[in-house]
Amino acid sequence: MSSKRVLITGGAGFLGSHLCKKILDAGDEVLCVDNFSTGRRAHLVPFQDSPNFEFVRHDVSFPLHVEVDEIYNLACPASPIHYQTDPVQTIKTTVIGAMNMLGLAKRTEAKIMQASTSEIYGDPLVHPQTETYLGNVNPIGLRACYDEGKRCAETLFFDYYRQHQVKIKVARIFNTYGPHMHPDDGRVVSNFIVQALRGEQITIYGNGNQTRCFCYVSDLIDGFVRLMSTNVDVTGPFNLGNPVEITMIELAENILKLTGSKSKLVFMPLPQDDPKQRRPNIDKARDGLDWEPKVPLREGLKETIAYFKTLL
Ligand code: NAD
Ligand code: UDP
Ligand code: UDP
Repeated sequence: MSSKRVLITGGAGFLGSHLCKKILDAGDEVLCVDNFSTGRRAHLVPFQDSPNFEFVRHDVSFPLHVEVDEIYNLACPASPIHYQTDPVQTIKTTVIGAMNMLGLAKRTEAKIMQASTSEIYGDPLVHPQTETYLGNVNPIGLRACYDEGKRCAETLFFDYYRQHQVKIKVARIFNTYGPHMHPDDGRVVSNFIVQALRGEQITIYGNGNQTRCFCYVSDLIDGFVRLMSTNVDVTGPFNLGNPVEITMIELAENILKLTGSKSKLVFMPLPQDDPKQRRPNIDKARDGLDWEPKVPLREGLKETIAYFKTLL
């Protein structure tokens, strides 16, 4: 079988760099497109000598004309501090970026997967969240540029599917962690590990009783590839995440134990619209993709801690 040409937008980021490796390892060609707003050149160094790897510096909110068979649309800052730094750019990336990639998929007849998010559900009033829950999002809050941008992107995906028969796949990603997270990214796993390794205070926002579920990156990337390989009638959305739910205090305690750190917890104000609890119901992905996460939190945290030790 001839190799596929796969476009990965946001390929220099945390998830994108793991996806580039997975696709190259399968023998396919990768065209990585990134504007380096939160991604890092260092993540692409291992691929630079591969004849199957090509990189284009480009902002997806501008049109892109290339020939590809599959598109993974990951371009977008994912951490609240980054997407709130330039909220208008976040909306351009999520909405205009999605429209451009859909226009590209329409012209080339490529399959296209959208990296959507559990933020679609906002601060959820239904727990755990199934794909049928329509969400509870504040449209004018600080998180709205991301949450509403990603919601509008899903709307565009389904309208291109209905109106133009574009072969869409929508993954709703829940909190994912692992090597290649940026140390200054601001997300909770990287913050706590970096603070623990440096002997700094562990910053708990609010009372630390809010919950999240953490999926290890290799499990998530496996879900992406399974989703892309489904038939054209399979669109999703699929929740992709690990259903094991913990509080931020428990996460901090786990990280202190695994690092052997003596760091103390410090309590800080809870950011606006911070969801109180979140847990994916992944029955649909179990049935439709034969997928479920395999890496326990403890094992994934050990790998992630080992990665941050090499950086610090
Ligand atoms: P990341 O910030 O590490 O990666 C995003 C990448 O997109 C970066 O390399 C960045 O430079 C690039 N980018 C941003 N705007 C761009 C633009 N306009 N044009 C081209 N490139 C652009 O984040 P990540 O964790 O790897 O997230 C990847 C995708 O997955 C995002 O779409 C995010 O919304 C989604 N997601 C991630 C998580 C998670 O837990 N990691 C959860 C839900 C959704
Ligand atoms: N587009 C792109 N690459 C392509 C085809 C389209 O970036 O190969 C962009 C195009 O510039 C437009 C968007 O995708 O802004 C949507 O394209 P579509 O064909 O759906 O809409 P139209 O161009 O008719 O407005
Ligand atoms: N959080 C925290 N300390 C930090 C960073 C985050 O307590 O240093 C909390 C944050 O308030 C949220 C949870 O951890 O309740 C997850 O935050 P993150 O930004 O990683 O992801 P998201 O809120 O988008 O799920």
